[in-house]
Amino acid sequence: MAAPAEETLVIIGSGPAGWSSAIYAARAQLKPLVFEGAISEKNRMAGTLPLGQLALTSEVENFAGFPAGDLGGFLDSSLPPERRGMMPPHEGHGVTGPELMELMRQQAVNFGTRIVTDDILKVDFSKRPFTLFPSEGGEVKAKCVIVATGASANWLGLQSEEHFKNRGVSACAVCDGALPRFRNRPLVVVGGGDSAIEEATYLTKFASTVHLVHRRDQFRASKIMAQRAFDDPKIKIHFNTALAEVLGDDAKGVTGVRLAGTTGVAKEETLEASGVFLAIGHTPNTAFLDGQLELTPKKYIVWKKHFRTNTSVEGVFAAGDVADDYYRQAISAAGTGCMAALDAERWLAHGHG
Ligand code: NAP
Repeated sequence: MAAPAEETLVIIGSGPAGWSSAIYAARAQLKPLVFEGAISEKNRMAGTLPLGQLALTSEVENFAGFPAGDLGGFLDSSLPPERRGMMPPHEGHGVTGPELMELMRQQAVNFGTRIVTDDILKVDFSKRPFTLFPSEGGEVKAKCVIVATGASANWLGLQSEEHFKNRGVSACAVCDGALPRFRNRPLVVVGGGDSAIEEATYLTKFASTVHLVHRRDQFRASKIMAQRAFDDPKIKIHFNTALAEVLGDDAKGVTGVRLAGTTGVAKEETLEASGVFLAIGHTPNTAFLDGQLELTPKKYIVWKKHFRTNTSVEGVFAAGDVADDYYRQAISAAGTGCMAALDAERWLAHGHG
């Protein structure tokens, strides 16, 4: 049997980091092969379908270059009908997460990127060329790899939370907070870390009141952030409290929450709210690496060189949220995707691989 062909560069992941690295690598004539992930029920439940976290959001107002306006005609001219048909009709706002991801994907395709709609389940980075194992079987050899598999927001796992996702339940205040349904209404944020307080503070710009619900009696967040929550008259803190159920109906989406005490003392409360934001941490999608790259204690890939995307294995680079638990923005992920492609190109140009 013939040995599998060797790829120059394989990119694993299809969020802003994956596509930006593909655009740069394709223009550098590296003929990248992108594994964009499989379309499967397992990935849907885990929030790891192709096109990443942005595919789960609605409007994206903070990606530079997409002010509010009617993008409809541009989308029709840019995307092939079979991809356009997968998205809801454009409704005269700026750009949505799925639209932005489809545009990035198409831009990568325009320069010759090849795409496989499958997951990489396992890797062997112990020798070069590297070996990647897709879920559909076989193996792929690669001189160089960019890991851009992102992170998935953690959810509580409540049935009602799942039911109202994108209809008032969100895991990203910065992505969704400014939507009309959240304006001048009470909102709920769950979590006690820096993200929860940052999101609660951000949401006070839109909400009438933000109920910050935390399971313990003190915040995990840094002192300065915690103080910000205590000082903000629009934030009402509920310590020793858990979200027991998201309330709502199919017409209105979320209308409230049922809270429960966490200390054993009977306590039950119902609050009115038009939105529930989960800020209980993210999990980077690094399990498939099986310990072959150096990870932080929270399982994010470690960038080994200052302001470079090199990982602990020479020839493997990382971009986007899989290596960033701090900024976690679409535009910063896209930026590090560009950096990873340039790092890979220069590494290959020096005769490595
Ligand atoms: P985090 O620090 O891990 O905090 C997660 C919070 O969610 C904790 O308060 C935790 O409660 C709570 N939680 C976890 N699972 C839960 C569950 N099942 N039910 C209820 N509550 C649950 O995560 P993060 O806030 O996203 O921050 C991640 C990193 O980014 C941190 O290093 C943070 O400092 C950094 N960050 C910094 C800034 C900033 O400086 N401006 C902003 C955002 C993030 P417990 O406390 O009880 O464990």
